[in-house]
Amino acid sequence: MVKIISFSKVNKWYGNFHVLQEIDLEIKQGEVVVILGPSGSGKSTLLRCINRLETITKGELVVNGVKVNDRKTNINQLRQEIGMVFQHFNLYPHKTALENITLAPTKVRKLEREQAKKLALEYLEKVGIPEKAGSYPNQLSGGQQQRVAIARGLAMKPQIMLFDEPTSALDPEMIGEVLDVMRTLAKEGMTMVVVTHEMGFAREVADRIIFMDEGKILEAAEPDVFFNNPKNERTKLFLSRIL
Ligand code: ADP
Ligand code: MG
Repeated sequence: MVKIISFSKVNKWYGNFHVLQEIDLEIKQGEVVVILGPSGSGKSTLLRCINRLETITKGELVVNGVKVNDRKTNINQLRQEIGMVFQHFNLYPHKTALENITLAPTKVRKLEREQAKKLALEYLEKVGIPEKAGSYPNQLSGGQQQRVAIARGLAMKPQIMLFDEPTSALDPEMIGEVLDVMRTLAKEGMTMVVVTHEMGFAREVADRIIFMDEGKILEAAEPDVFFNNPKNERTKLFLSRIL
């Protein structure tokens, strides 16, 4: 198995606030890692370091073979390999679903317009809404918008997909359709790092669960062990509150 993400003794401060503390974490190609933890524990920050939306202060982070924070690293090239899906979709409101998806492939990957369109339609098909190609974000439900956002990420053919609470802004009846798409991706072997509060998804789809609190990884285990036999007292408390 090939390592694709590797945190070694990573630390980050926001001013004098120590948000990530001595993070050691290795993720293999094709692995699905779910990050759990209370609000403010540093989950988003950890995820955003992977594509350098945040910079680390100390330690080493290697993604897809390159040191993320090395001055010589071509960050745009690295980001092409990393798709990211946010809680609030972040679609361009004045572009159709199709245009949202073709934008990066034409601008960044320099794909021909027709080719990008064909690709976008394939991904809209994949996320189950090919008929929405011409719709604008405000004509789509939250679940549909999030599926467009996933298709947009996939259209860059990334090696890694990052998800930061992708269903937290959705009405309950739309959560399932987004999780279904993510489940399919996981089955197809996509490397995924997912911050979520969906425990059913975590239990069923994750290869590994990481539990964070106050900037530290307190526990890392397979779902079975994590949910049925957690070792850390803080993990037990967290699980007792949510399960
Ligand atoms: P989580 O995703 O687990 O809720 P975050 O990674 O978003 O946690 O945030 C961790 C902590 O860092 C929080 O206390 C948050 O207020 C703080 N924080 C996040 N972003 C910034 C920032 N840009 N500047 C200062 N503090 C921040
Ligand atoms: Mg967060």
